[in-house]
Amino acid sequence: MAHAQIHHDDAAAIGELEALSGRTVAVLGFGNQGAAQAANLRDSGVTPLVGNRDDGYAAAAAEEGFAPRPIAEVAFEADVSLLLVPDEVQPDLVRAEIAPGLQAGDTLVVASGYNWHFGLLEVPDGVDVVMVAPRMIGAAVRDRYVSRAGFPCFVSVERDATGRAWDTTLAIARAIGGTLGGAVVSSAREEAALDLFSEQAVWPAVLAVLRTAHAVAVDAGFTEEAVLSELYLSGEPAEVFDHVARDGLFGQLGLHSRTSQYGQLRALAALDDAAQRDRFTAVLHDDILSGAFAREWSRPEAGERLEALRREADASPIAAAEATVRERLRS
Ligand code: NDP
Repeated sequence: MAHAQIHHDDAAAIGELEALSGRTVAVLGFGNQGAAQAANLRDSGVTPLVGNRDDGYAAAAAEEGFAPRPIAEVAFEADVSLLLVPDEVQPDLVRAEIAPGLQAGDTLVVASGYNWHFGLLEVPDGVDVVMVAPRMIGAAVRDRYVSRAGFPCFVSVERDATGRAWDTTLAIARAIGGTLGGAVVSSAREEAALDLFSEQAVWPAVLAVLRTAHAVAVDAGFTEEAVLSELYLSGEPAEVFDHVARDGLFGQLGLHSRTSQYGQLRALAALDDAAQRDRFTAVLHDDILSGAFAREWSRPEAGERLEALRREADASPIAAAEATVRERLRS
């Protein structure tokens, strides 16, 4: 059983940020993560420069008391740059506007492992590359910093050019509140692979289960309203998953009736998931770790394929039924 190293700090230690002393920190991109991390950094005593194009996000940064400037200018001035623009735009933006401003001894901080692990970021030699990746949406990164509840965060050093990259990583994690809930030592490879694995193995299986359950129940003559309400429109699955997180995968079973518990566990014990295990293994190794998915998604035609797949999903029987049922339940 492999276990990760975890860095924990209590609220008092959040102020211990020697590794950042005398270094200029910048947040590049003031979106979901950028706005939250900039505010947390400032409250930790590390007021960052903010880089953003001159538009709505820049206006939001100005409203929060930051003075946003063009990304290239800020990246040039900063010693530690947090790359907080969407993953899809990072390779071009780094090449054109950020890399030219990075100098040996600087640090580039990524919040997701995908681009770095799959070789899509060109970062000059001598620059540390580290990951501080909250496992939390931006709004909650801010709320949980303020309330001191913390949030899980993955950290790693991907390139230690200076020999001080770990100190910088942990200081940034601390300053955004990422060590309150425990910073888990990971890697860009692990973060990217698990993220993609969850997206490409777990969630498609969940979606397929609901789609199949809908088809079987409707074929048996049950109404769309009853079937969809039972499956997910009631919101009950969200409640169950909330309890899975808090009470455990099986710990939450106590919330269900004994009939339900017996039915669930009896059916689970009888389930042969060998085929699913084979499929998940293939997704992880053949699609994800091999880089095949990343290469496919980098192709220009992938965007068009996404639109076609979306149209196909929207036209499926369950999606059509859902639109009607939702409308009828409302009126
Ligand atoms: P957002 O979509 O919220 O980023 C929006 C920001 O990116 C805005 O400042 C926007 O400014 C800027 N931006 C968008 N396109 C461009 C462009 N072409 N050139 C320059 N700036 C651009 O991103 P997130 O905060 O969601 O994600 C940032 C990073 O954090 C990613 O690496 C993501 O994987 C990671 N992450 C995200 C989490 C989340 O919950 N959202 C959780 C954990 C990690 P403008 O359009 O004004 O230029």
